[in-house]
Parts: sequence; structure tokens; C-alpha cells
Amino acid sequence: MSKRVADALFPQIKMTYQEAEALYPPRNLPEGAVCTRFAPSPTGFMHIGGLYTALLNSSFTRSRGGVFFLRIEDTDQKRQIENGVTEIISALDEFQIRFDEGAVGETEDSGSYGPYRQSLRREIYQAFAKYLVEIGRAYPCFCTSEELEAIRDRQEKADAPQKGYYGQWAACRELDEETVLKRIANGDRWIVRMRSGGKLGVSRVYHDMIRGELSMQENILDAVIIKGDGLPTYHFAHVVDDHLMGTTDVIRADEWIASIPLHVEMFELLGFPVPRYTHLSPIMKNEAKEDGEGVSRRKLSKRKDPEARVGYYDEAGYPIPAVLDYLLTIGSADYEPWREEHMDASIYDFPLDLSKTGAAGALFDFDKLNNVAKKRIGHMPEEQIFDAVSAWAKRYDAKLSRYMEDNGDAFRRSIAVWHEKRLDVAKWSDLMELYPYMYDPAFTVDAAALPESFLPHKERIPEILADYLSVFDYEDGAAEWFGKVKEVAARHNYCVKMGAYKKHPEDYNGSIADLSSFIRYALTGTTNTPDLHGIIHVIGKDAAVGRVEAFRSKLANR
Ligand code: GLU
Repeated sequence: MSKRVADALFPQIKMTYQEAEALYPPRNLPEGAVCTRFAPSPTGFMHIGGLYTALLNSSFTRSRGGVFFLRIEDTDQKRQIENGVTEIISALDEFQIRFDEGAVGETEDSGSYGPYRQSLRREIYQAFAKYLVEIGRAYPCFCTSEELEAIRDRQEKADAPQKGYYGQWAACRELDEETVLKRIANGDRWIVRMRSGGKLGVSRVYHDMIRGELSMQENILDAVIIKGDGLPTYHFAHVVDDHLMGTTDVIRADEWIASIPLHVEMFELLGFPVPRYTHLSPIMKNEAKEDGEGVSRRKLSKRKDPEARVGYYDEAGYPIPAVLDYLLTIGSADYEPWREEHMDASIYDFPLDLSKTGAAGALFDFDKLNNVAKKRIGHMPEEQIFDAVSAWAKRYDAKLSRYMEDNGDAFRRSIAVWHEKRLDVAKWSDLMELYPYMYDPAFTVDAAALPESFLPHKERIPEILADYLSVFDYEDGAAEWFGKVKEVAARHNYCVKMGAYKKHPEDYNGSIADLSSFIRYALTGTTNTPDLHGIIHVIGKDAAVGRVEAFRSKLANR
């Protein structure tokens, strides 16, 4: 092809590719520093996989020094949603993932390597496409979708070793210049394809930070670089942008692995150095098989799995640092041991080594998430927990929020009851679920269905509780309070020493554990709770007495 064709395709493009390149001077990064990017398309809510990619990019960059930027890939205009950019920016902001450069609002950018949204870079891509046409490494293609389909049919029939637009099958590849110019002048619709130099059957070794050396057939396809709407394909935009913006490491989802040969050829065609590639496997999920036999593994799905949406974590009340800990735990085998030793360190102090990231795809596991979150919450200072729960409850749980407003001090005391020692709480929505007896002002105990273990004691429980109430003093400290419980036990022949009770259970009505559980149940409606004396001092004197009395009288009057 030629300059004439290039001019006919892009008459409005006056900028040469050298001029485009001159707008983006090489970044002067210190030795060992990197430049990475997160490059989402604004097509819907943010997927946890997107957050994972962004986090690994930023973690990789922060521990080495360098630049991390946000590029909005909005070349597929049909798939975009309203406020898609805001959606991305606020999700990343919520998870404290910070950028040095990039889109900062629906239309605003910050940084000198922009614009950071591809729809505003049309001229730049076209300048490079124009150059490739000029040097004969790209050409216009006029094929309609019917013609493309016919090519595919013929390939099918001929059993072509590879399907697609290449070599002898590429109908527009060898059109002569005069025909091309005539068709353009005629107003025939065109797109631009690169002219691949690859040969069928020739393999090359490509490198991926996680997968190591990959031997793949080199690219032979005359891939589309500029679409009918004048915007570039993802492939071409990736190559032009990551070159101009100085990206040293492309860390992206592994759906792009098969495109490495194409991307490398494009970098080479344009005379650009090839960045390092890292392809992250998607987050997977185990699912019980339909026939009930074992489990199968599949990608976390936007449609089926609520946890695929990043908003899910905030709504459930997982603290942000816990979610970040979890994502790094599944992202790198080294993270958990590092975190155990550095509970107070910023995630960005972790030296992420991507070669330690598994190629198999991290498995999403709620138990693991909850364990990581429980540890994180167990380590949070109580004041920080108070603020985090208060902010969360204001947004998602009106009942808890009201409770906190009316009983701030009691709520503060309650944190000490469940915090640190027990590690029961993984997310703020657990609070009302686990401890309604502390936080629900309308809480009452149902005396109709008693625990099985209470049945042999049923007749005695009302008098035991009456005795307990007669000695109960709200002002007692934990030791005094428990001393009185023991006295009650002794009076009703419930053995105070567990060892002695185990030796001769037949000598007693039961043990101190049985008796304590009657009080516990009367106060909380369950037999497993954190420290009961602590709970009494959260619910306050009236409830501490009233609930026991109500339960006693329900049992007595049955
Ligand atoms: N816009 C592409 C995507 O969302 C980005 C891939 C990349 O990081 O290069 O899949």
C-alpha cells in the first residue's frame, strides 16, 4: 500500500506517528521501578476479578516504586453504561486502591500521559494506523459480514488448518492500489487490518511472569486494528497506549493469553519494545455437581454469584482491609505468612512476587475469607471498630444504627465482649445475627422450645433462677458475680467442680456448667455466647433482671 491510500483513509490526520510519539516522552523511572496500569471497560458493575487485577497491579507497583495509572477502555461504545467510569473510580476508591495518574471522574483526567480514556485518543491511534498503511503493513478491508461468513464456510469445507482472515483467505490483502482508492472514493465501508508477517506452523516462545515460557504458534491473522466507527480494536489500542504511556508490565486477566502472539507482532510492527506480560487466572468457585457427585470448578460468575460484585462486600460489612488481605492471600502463597508476622503493616509493604501467583486460578472460599476477616477484625483497635460499624450501620442496618445512637457506651463495652478472644465476627452484618440479645431492643427469649439438655432439669429451673435473682447484684464484678452463681449451684446440688462432677455425676442434679447455661439461655436464648458477665453489662440492669424473671415465670406457669 502507499501514502495515497493512507491519505485517502485518514485525510483528517495531520499528526505523524513521530509527532504522536513525541507527546509521550519516555518515563524516567528509577532503576527497578515499574509502570503498570489497570485498564477496565466501563461496561457494568465492578467484578471482584477486576478489583483483584487492580490490587495485584498496585501491590506489584508500590513495593517496587514507579507509576500505576487508570486507563478507561471505552472503545466498544455499544457496551457502555451510564456513569460507568464513576462506578469504577468509586469502587477502587472504596477499596483504597490509589492511582498516580488516570481518569479521576466521568470526564476528568489527572497526569501528563493522557488522555486516559481511549475514546479521546482516536487521532493518535489513527496516526499509527495511517503510518502502518503507508509502509504497507496495514490495509483497508471492505469485506461485509456476509463475505466474511463465506470465507469461513470455504475454510470449513477446505478443512483449513487455521480459521480466520489471513494469507490466501484474506480477500482484501492483495487488492491493487487503484481498486482500493476507487472503493474508498466510492464511499464503500472499510475497516483497517494489519498485514501479518507470521507463518502458519511456526512457533515462538513468549514469556509470561506466572506461566514462564510459552511456546505458541506465531500470529498469522490480519487482525482488525481500526473498526468501522474509526475507533481501534482492544488489541491495537493496548499496543499503542501501553507503548506511549510507558507501561513496563502488563498485568491483566488470562482471557488475553491467546492474544500474546498478536500483541507481540503489533509491538514489533510498530517498532516498539514489548512489555513484560503477566496473565492472572480468574477467581474460581467450587460448585456441587448437579448429579450430587462431587464438585466442579467454574469461574465466579457475575450472574450467579453475589460475591462476584464488589459492592457485595461493603453491603455485608466486611472491613475493606480484610477483603484486601483476602485477595492477596489468594493471589500469592507468600502473603498469609507475611501478614501473620506484619499485622500492622500496609498491604503495600508486601513485596509481591508474581511468579509465586498460581497459574491454576485462585479458589474463592467463604470460609477462608471469613477467617482472614475475623483475624483482621480481631486485630482492629476497638475505637476503629466502633467507627467502622457506625458508618456501616448508617448505610445498611437502620436497627443497629439506632441502637448505636441510643446506646453508644453499651456498644463500646460490647466490642470488648466479642473482640479479640473469640474471633466470631467476620463482617458487621454478623453482629445482629450473632448477638441479637445485645443489639436488638425488641429481643425476647422463647421459652417454648428448650434445648434438649435442659429437659431433665426443667422442673428445677424456675426455682434456680429465682434464687439467682435473689442474690444478683448488677454492681458485682465478674468474680463476685460468678461466686454467687456458684453458691446458687451448691444450694441446688449442682456440682461446682467439673472434675468431681465427672467422677460421680449420679451424686448431683447437674454441674455448674448446666446451671450457668440456664442463666445464659434466659438472657440470650442460646447456650453458646461470649462472656456472660460482659453481656450483662452491655444489656444493662433492667434487661439483666427482666429477662431472667420473664423466662422464669414462663417456665413456672407452663
Ligand atoms: N479493557 C480490557 C478488559 O477489561 C483490559 C485488558 C488489559 O488490561 O489490557 O479486559
